[in-house]
Amino acid sequence: MDIYSRFGLRPVVNVSGTMTSLGASIVAAPVIEAMAAILPQFVQIDDLQRKASAVIAQACGSESGYITASCSAAITLGIAATMTGDDPGLIERLPDTTGLRNEVVVQTGHLVNYGAPIDQAIRLAGARVVPIGAATESHGYQLSAAINERTTAALYVVSHHTVQFGLIQLEEFIAAAHAKGVPVIVDAASEYDLKRFIAAGADLVLYSAHKFLGGPTAGIVAGKKTLVRAAYFQNGGIGRGMKVGKEGIAGAIAALEQWQQRDHAAVRARERAYLKLWHEALNGRPGVRAEIDADPTGNPLDRLKLSIDSREARISAWDLADALANPPAGSVPAIVRDHEAELNFFFVDPCNLHPGQEQIVLQRLLAELERAQHAPQPLVTPFFQRDARRVAARRNWPD
Ligand SMILES: *Cc1c(COP(=O)(O)O)cnc(C)c1O
Repeated sequence: MDIYSRFGLRPVVNVSGTMTSLGASIVAAPVIEAMAAILPQFVQIDDLQRKASAVIAQACGSESGYITASCSAAITLGIAATMTGDDPGLIERLPDTTGLRNEVVVQTGHLVNYGAPIDQAIRLAGARVVPIGAATESHGYQLSAAINERTTAALYVVSHHTVQFGLIQLEEFIAAAHAKGVPVIVDAASEYDLKRFIAAGADLVLYSAHKFLGGPTAGIVAGKKTLVRAAYFQNGGIGRGMKVGKEGIAGAIAALEQWQQRDHAAVRARERAYLKLWHEALNGRPGVRAEIDADPTGNPLDRLKLSIDSREARISAWDLADALANPPAGSVPAIVRDHEAELNFFFVDPCNLHPGQEQIVLQRLLAELERAQHAPQPLVTPFFQRDARRVAARRNWPD
């Protein structure tokens, strides 16, 4: 029995990217095997994490590494490590940071929400967030001025969620923090490049195992040995509630190994073929402009950007996204990448499709566009009501 029938769930086609709310990514077969193999066995977790450290070191070019529950956990535990070092007394005292350096500097344009606010991941350790600059502008001198004898770490976020212009670039950020003796933690949760940030001089770099790597839900911490060790030791403190099991560690190790062997060119070629198919079929339909758009943080991944002129298409970008997600009975929901829908576009992301689903996505898009053309009334709801509608729809969970 397939998993949808077993749990009574509706299948979903994911063209939004790697979203926790949809189950993150397609876990690669060797990863599933590694997880299944370790589940019935006992191991010394320290030894398994020692193995993880070696694999991470090799994959990321770092001194060492370890696996935790998620990238969000890694942020909290990495910050904690900078405050306590390897002192078990201090580790057990968190989140009480009385007398410790406890300020974390971060650019205001990096204060994102990836499903939860990133500043909360910092505060969970007992640290205080010190924002630098304005939402759309910050400078090296502001970072230098914000660092004082209470500063414990500087956090840098690499993500499409951040403001993409006007902020301090990584190299300048690292130089300014290191000039004042402050370690730099890079949140690179969704980045393909495992080596770039360590090579640039970051002290800790954090990835999600369950995003591009196609691993299980887990976080990967890579970096300087003293800091990685101090972060790992948080498992005897605030890290306990963020623990990863043997299957998560084994799966993350396997994900790192298969990532380095994966035929990235073949994956890219397949994704490009999907984009070409969609572009040719959709561009120039009434009210629809399709463009192939490069990933904003430089990952080797393109997406189809669909701009909707609601007068000609007779449906708005957000109503089209909602219609795709909530189709009539008998059709499969397709979840598009619509976090900028109020600007009258959304993206169709090819990176998490099973073979054949590219056709389902296309047929669903064509069907909804066609339906809008022939509907008695155009479907253009006020955008300002959309968020409230979505919040209300979720409120009665689990009913
Ligand atoms: C997804 C994401 C996170 C959280 O990662 P999890 O591993 O899902 O906890 C943190 N930061 C950024 C930039 C992200 O995109």
